[in-house]
Amino acid sequence: MTATAPITQDVTTLPRNLPEGGPVNIVGLTREELSAALIAAGTPERQAKMRTGQVWQWVYHWGVRDFAQMTNLAKDYRALLARNFVISLPEVVTRQISADGTRKYLIRIAGGHEVETVYIPEEGRGTLCVSSQVGCTLTCSFCHTGTQKLVRNLTAGEIVGQLMLARDDLGEWPERGAPKDETRLVSNLVLMGMGEPLYNFENVRAAMKVVMDGEGLSLSRRRITLSTSGVVPEIARTATEIGCQLAVSFHATTDEVRDILVPINKRWNIRTLLDALRDYPNLSNSERITFEYVMLDGINDSDADARRLVKLIAGIPAKINLIPFNEWPGAPYRRSSPERIAAFADIIYKAGYASPIRTPRGEDIMAACGQLKSATERARKSRAQIAAETGL
Ligand code: SAH
Ligand code: SF4
Repeated sequence: MTATAPITQDVTTLPRNLPEGGPVNIVGLTREELSAALIAAGTPERQAKMRTGQVWQWVYHWGVRDFAQMTNLAKDYRALLARNFVISLPEVVTRQISADGTRKYLIRIAGGHEVETVYIPEEGRGTLCVSSQVGCTLTCSFCHTGTQKLVRNLTAGEIVGQLMLARDDLGEWPERGAPKDETRLVSNLVLMGMGEPLYNFENVRAAMKVVMDGEGLSLSRRRITLSTSGVVPEIARTATEIGCQLAVSFHATTDEVRDILVPINKRWNIRTLLDALRDYPNLSNSERITFEYVMLDGINDSDADARRLVKLIAGIPAKINLIPFNEWPGAPYRRSSPERIAAFADIIYKAGYASPIRTPRGEDIMAACGQLKSATERARKSRAQIAAETGL
């Protein structure tokens, strides 16, 4: 099956979608935005920095949701906060737990839309896979999300909210007064859920600023990986303005095949993508780029592909992550055999690259890479409708 749908969303990144009128949701505001909002609500300017720090700590370090519990603030000030602000997270509709411990949350965001978030526990660490859009404008032919049209971009609050919800569910907020506990259940975050994060750059950047802030959720930029299908013009900005680790959905070694698997390749082909990637480690001060490569039986998994792949990425500090294809109902491909994957991995390994094979997790609950798609499908909306609904 070929994906012939045109790419409908251009690279114009959309402005932040901040609420107007009514109580302001604190979750997802950057420090600067929170400070401005506190001033607008009547906080004297000279106190704004201190108040921002205090509120920030309550919300993001202690996980408090009620202004009454912010005990180092005067009662009057708590009342002012309660009049003007809310601390609001998306709603968890269902939680499924896989036999392997993977948790999948279906969450409902404003407007009744639904997205999925997946928690993957591992030995001594845990990774949260968050969504950045409801659906996706792109139409990668092997991806379940790609069959669901874009409904809208998530706000920064909805992105940060996914991490906070997972911490609620895992009971991971620190106990006040207890000794500092260094174990982190959610130690890593990957932007690999539904959507193309670089088509929602402004909100993703704001969300990551909140998540990386050392006085709050405090996930270091080295523990955050953003996965993109290859939105070339946003790659340098990701390096300089977010600075997280980058993963690229590479998946093919010729433009002919990549045009079908990852149709954004028709816009920015392999050569253009590789040129943008070459500068990323330097610009972001990160060690290497992860090349994601989904193993599709008979499509992109030959020895010749493996050899072409190492040739193409020569000179780029890289790790190649081989992802056995995760099937979904009606999927047009099959997973490569374990022997084929091993042979492919061997060629890459011998060329000097780490080539871990990603173990599919949570398959019994359709939580594995590329299987996410909200159960409630919606008809495609026009850009104008999306703009009208979200103010984007
Ligand atoms: N839109 C972004 C991030 C979300 S997809 C991107 O495309 O990079 C996260 C990863 O899962 C990508 O590498 C994607 O190519 C891969 N993926 C999608 N569908 C898959 C499937 N059915 N099996 C295995 N991996 C899949
Ligand atoms: Fe969108 Fe990524 Fe799926 Fe492609 S692989 S359709 S970019 S979510």
